[in-house]
Amino acid sequence: MSISNVELTLLGTGTSSGVPVIGCDCAVCRSDDPRDRRLRSGALLRFNDAQGHARAILIDCSPDHREQALRIGLRRCDGILFTHHHVDHTFGLDEVRRYNALMSAAIDIYADARTLEHLERVYRHIFRSSENLNDSFVATLVARRIEAGRSFELFGLRVSPIELLHGRVPVLGFRFDAAPSARAEADSILPLAYCTDVNAIPPASWRELTGLRTLVLDMLRYRAHPTHFTVDQAIAVAEQIGADRTLFVHMTHDIRHAELDAKLPPGMQLGFDGLRIRAASSDAVTNAAAAEATATNAATIDASATDAAPSHGARLPLSSSPHPWPN
Ligand SMILES: [Zn+2]
Ligand SMILES: [Zn+2]
Ligand SMILES: [Zn+2]
Repeated sequence: MSISNVELTLLGTGTSSGVPVIGCDCAVCRSDDPRDRRLRSGALLRFNDAQGHARAILIDCSPDHREQALRIGLRRCDGILFTHHHVDHTFGLDEVRRYNALMSAAIDIYADARTLEHLERVYRHIFRSSENLNDSFVATLVARRIEAGRSFELFGLRVSPIELLHGRVPVLGFRFDAAPSARAEADSILPLAYCTDVNAIPPASWRELTGLRTLVLDMLRYRAHPTHFTVDQAIAVAEQIGADRTLFVHMTHDIRHAELDAKLPPGMQLGFDGLRIRAASSDAVTNAAAAEATATNAATIDASATDAAPSHGARLPLSSSPHPWPN
């Protein structure tokens, strides 16, 4: 048996402020290219497990998660992997109680010790709900501590946390392979690595970045920054890693999509919100989304991220449990 229909959706591709930036009148913030509108960073990995069940794993949960979920009609969450504790990657966590209700199940969240500590402090009403004065509808989460160098399995995916440096903060990137017990399809986007909020890769982490079909990599802006790769650094690192396809994310309003995307080396492209990539045999989805996104109508990209899904087939079955989670 094998996992199948592995698909990555970029839910948000913006830096911590999002793009447009509040109160900014620069050309990118006023751009009518929908690819220049960037919600805060996060991604979704969907696939069918070896038993054919639809699975949806979130990578980070941004303050824009509710909007991101509505755009793609997300109705389930089988786990959340956190790269680090920063607000732009974690402040949507309250929203996931809706998946508890839809699925009548708790959600496992995977993070390193530092991130869990922050989450348990910020979301005290979730993790110590017995102390809440009212019996409120809060998320039901199960904290799972993970660390770099220790792979684990999730529904037939092997997830390998990779140590990356985000300034002085060690954060996690993630490599995804089919688990040995559940081969991936031959034309899958796996192995895939998701590496955001990084400005240096420790020597020991490079071996986790070999043989990739797909790489998602931080690319903040042109000017130097103490905790993120610049445009030039990101391209150089992507060249060194040599994935078949690289998508750049976490961009500021310094980057105009159409201008930079056209200049990138072969195999590299700027991500944009709603971009979906899947097996080589169904690359049309990616291309269709990209083509539609070049239109200047802001509504078009929403259509490519939502309506395109069923027409290209393989829309994952969605849970529609009518039973409310305790509230
Ligand atoms: Zn960030
Ligand atoms: Zn701006
Ligand atoms: Zn960060």
